[in-house]
Amino acid sequence: MIYNEEFETLPREALEALQLKRLQQVASRLYHNVGFYKKSFDRAGVTPESLRTLEDLKRFPFTTKQDLRDNYPFGLFAAPMSNVVRLHASSGTTGASTVVGYTKRDIDTWAELMGRCFVAAGLTKNDVIHNAYGYGLFTGGLGAHYGAEKIGASVVPMSGGNTKRQIMILQDFRPTAICCTPSYALNLAEQGRAMGVDMRSLALRVGVFGAEPWSEQMRAEIEKAMNLKAFNIYGLSEIMGPGVAMECDEARDGMHIFEDHFLVETIDPETGEVLPPGAEGELVFTTLTKEAFPLIRYRTRDISRLNPAPCRCGRTHYRMGRVMGRSDDMLIIRGVNVFPSQIEAVLVGIEGLEPHYQLIVDREGTLDTLEVQVELTEKQFDGADEVKVLQRLENQLKKDMKDYLGITARIKLVEPKTIQRSEGKASRVIDKRKL
Ligand code: ADP
Ligand code: ZN
Repeated sequence: MIYNEEFETLPREALEALQLKRLQQVASRLYHNVGFYKKSFDRAGVTPESLRTLEDLKRFPFTTKQDLRDNYPFGLFAAPMSNVVRLHASSGTTGASTVVGYTKRDIDTWAELMGRCFVAAGLTKNDVIHNAYGYGLFTGGLGAHYGAEKIGASVVPMSGGNTKRQIMILQDFRPTAICCTPSYALNLAEQGRAMGVDMRSLALRVGVFGAEPWSEQMRAEIEKAMNLKAFNIYGLSEIMGPGVAMECDEARDGMHIFEDHFLVETIDPETGEVLPPGAEGELVFTTLTKEAFPLIRYRTRDISRLNPAPCRCGRTHYRMGRVMGRSDDMLIIRGVNVFPSQIEAVLVGIEGLEPHYQLIVDREGTLDTLEVQVELTEKQFDGADEVKVLQRLENQLKKDMKDYLGITARIKLVEPKTIQRSEGKASRVIDKRKL
């Protein structure tokens, strides 16, 4: 199903013409209204008139998270405060959080794009959506909320936390869909089982999960635990919030980026050079329709790749692959680059281990070391006097990490339920080098 047939299936040529027109408008507005852009365009020797084709965007300077922080809180707003109807802030996962604003029209656009996401997952006004993304300054809760209302679904505004209560509501209200972070979905499933609830026989049929990296293996794990179809959704507060890109029900192979509202590039994070579609790199977004907080070439630090191939759902918008992680989350263990989500993919699904893990990075001399702490299943733990069995599990994980990722790690199998559970974004890495 497609929410906005006209715009989501625009032929590429028409789509690109629309992008160019919108890009010229936003660049001109920023140049004339926001001091930061006037300065940065001038420094790069470009003006809005330099944009004669989409290719010309390459000559424009990037905007970075640091630029946002330098202009904290409202310095990059392009609309007067009297037109701003909402403020949000990023979660601050990687440092001081950044502030974003929305006009009435921005909120309407966001609601539509989130609506597109829900419809892409096969949801309609007949669905009841349990929204366990956090409400508040974080964009997840309210973003999903407005989208659910937009398509006429019944939304249960749970927010995060209060996990036992959530289980009761899941039983009583019988929602057909749930949205939250994938790590919180796991937490819910586990809590449900602990309360003796059969999480597979709830009414849930769709899960819309995002806001943090997760692996295909984790998807299988959650689908099994909750008996639903799990979808990946992507977004970031700087660009809008959730609903920048979403998987479609027909393919579930990459997330369609709503290109009538966002222009996307991938760049080499080292050199800033634009890469051809398909190459792995850092995603860079330009907002095409935002009023209060437009951004030109915003560097997300999220590593992914674009897929320009046509999709069987009929949408013409390019798809982005799973975000493996942010460039700042990449670990370098004895010269080998690895993202936490890749380690997750290896350990989730090993019989006897739970999908709950933590990575401890430390330094010995000049070398970085990695310890993977992962929980044993209850069953495995109860039989744990069999040292040989544990040794075998440990060796298997060690070998898989070496074979699949090329890294050597210390493995520590820990008791069930000892690793902290997430209520929002999970923090997987403890970096002792920085303590
Ligand atoms: P913060 O950067 O402080 O976490 P946000 O709450 O705006 O602020 O989170 C946006 C970030 O969350 C994205 O830049 C990305 O790193 C991550 N993210 C969002 N959706 C996904 C997803 N589906 N897969 C992987 N990472 C995601
Ligand atoms: Zn599709």
